[in-house]
Amino acid sequence: MRILLLSDIHANLEALEACLAAAPAHDAVANLGDVVGYGASPNEVIDRSRELGKVFVRGNHDKAATGLLDLEDFNPLAATSAMWTREQLSSEHHEWLRELPHGPVPLENVPQAQLVHGSPADEDAYVVSIGDALVPLLAVSTPLTFFGHTHLQGGFFANGSSADGFRPEYRTVGQAESVSLQLKPNTRYMINPGSVGQPRDGDWRAAFALFDTDAQIVHFHRTPYNLKSAQERILSANLPPRLATRLAAGR
Ligand code: ZN
Repeated sequence: MRILLLSDIHANLEALEACLAAAPAHDAVANLGDVVGYGASPNEVIDRSRELGKVFVRGNHDKAATGLLDLEDFNPLAATSAMWTREQLSSEHHEWLRELPHGPVPLENVPQAQLVHGSPADEDAYVVSIGDALVPLLAVSTPLTFFGHTHLQGGFFANGSSADGFRPEYRTVGQAESVSLQLKPNTRYMINPGSVGQPRDGDWRAAFALFDTDAQIVHFHRTPYNLKSAQERILSANLPPRLATRLAAGR
């Protein structure tokens, strides 16, 4: 089975379409949350995401846009975009977004894997370093956790002899590329497919991953997208200009 992993789309329709066009053949799609927030196409991205499948975990921006999270916990940029998103959402989309489940969500037919937005114990926690990852890696009984929230593609592993973080290494800055990770037996992993709509690892290209359950390989992908169009939508929606410029920097 081949599962397409999408996370942190953040209402960036252009980036989502580019990922879907670049994605190899797959049997299912799993969405790790933050469907909306920051970007200027929340309704369009929800429609498209719902067409792709039914496996979702909610993100903090999905909660903020539907009143489930206090905006005082957000920085001004995030709070402004959450308020804007709230005004834009159709009532049906608002209701759908509000009903999304919190993690961990099991992956159907793949008992070894689970889905979370932040970390298994706390959906809003940022797992950035091996120090953050070690406790959840060792605490959960599921060997493989897919997560999002940090917008950093890569992940962490732990086994009997070592524990560390990893990032896919790409050769170009503007082309479609992929890097594969062969999962090892007796090793626990937390893996982040990266952010579709607002990468923060210095690489502007949209990020996603594909998990091949038979081969036990995670393929990390980056793909260029129509950045200018996504930026123009943000500017013409009168969202903070920084939300447009940061996309070009991948920060
Ligand atoms: Zn996010």
